[in-house]
Amino acid sequence: MSILETVKLTKIYGKGDNKVEALKEVSVSIEKGKFTTIIGPSGSGKSTLLHCMAGLDVPTSGEVLLNGENIFNLSEEKLSILRRRNFGFVFQSFNLIPVIDVYENITLPVSLDNKKIDKDYISEIIEILGLESKIKSFPNELSGGQQQRVAIARALSNKPDIIFADEPTGNLDSKTADEVMKFFKLCVEKFGQTLIMVTHNKDIAASADVCITIQDGKILSYLNN
Ligand code: ADP
Ligand code: ADP
Repeated sequence: MSILETVKLTKIYGKGDNKVEALKEVSVSIEKGKFTTIIGPSGSGKSTLLHCMAGLDVPTSGEVLLNGENIFNLSEEKLSILRRRNFGFVFQSFNLIPVIDVYENITLPVSLDNKKIDKDYISEIIEILGLESKIKSFPNELSGGQQQRVAIARALSNKPDIIFADEPTGNLDSKTADEVMKFFKLCVEKFGQTLIMVTHNKDIAASADVCITIQDGKILSYLNN
């Protein structure tokens, strides 16, 4: 079943001589509960596609349908609420808040939404990600891999429908990257999460359920592994 669909998504940056057509009528369908990767050369439009799908960037034309509804028909405020409640984000930079501890970082999306923290669920995430001994630590006391595991836990804390990840292992050495990916996949499999990830890493792409290759703003191939 498709959870998210793009319909002829086009994104043009700049004007005149500076015009860049980053996406050219891209139509893709993302299956619920699956792990989809987006790969392609640098500058091919991967991040733009991910950001448009997540409602972080507004397309020039085309639609992004979440459960059949175009997210860009929502007011800015409603779109922002949708992003906060329904989506989780993991970026290359960990973006943890330095002055609060790991547990507070993980539960921040829930606290910001004034929701009650599901302690059992949060404990389960922390356990799967191997962070039990770190919950009272501060971000600067953790290694890069540990910080990214905290960011993954934070992305999952609000029980989002979809997790968007943009080169989540891009700042990590290859051994740490493999380890972080192993934990990430354990988590999404356990909770049946839908994960959409931009990556340069061919091994990660090969390990996903679906691999979308994009080149020059267009879909080059769509593989079900
Ligand atoms: P990728 O993620 O595959 O590296 P991007 O989606 O970041 O590709 O970029 C696609 C194209 O759009 C590139 O040519 C890039 O330079 C251009 N681009 C991306 N963001 C902007 C922006 N904010 N302003 C102008 N051009 C941009
Ligand atoms: P880079 O790949 O250059 O290290 P990131 O992956 O951290 O950058 O971020 C990619 C883009 O996503 C940036 O344009 C940034 O503004 C945006 N971004 C980063 N973190 C968040 C966030 N938590 N919420 C919304 N947008 C974000």
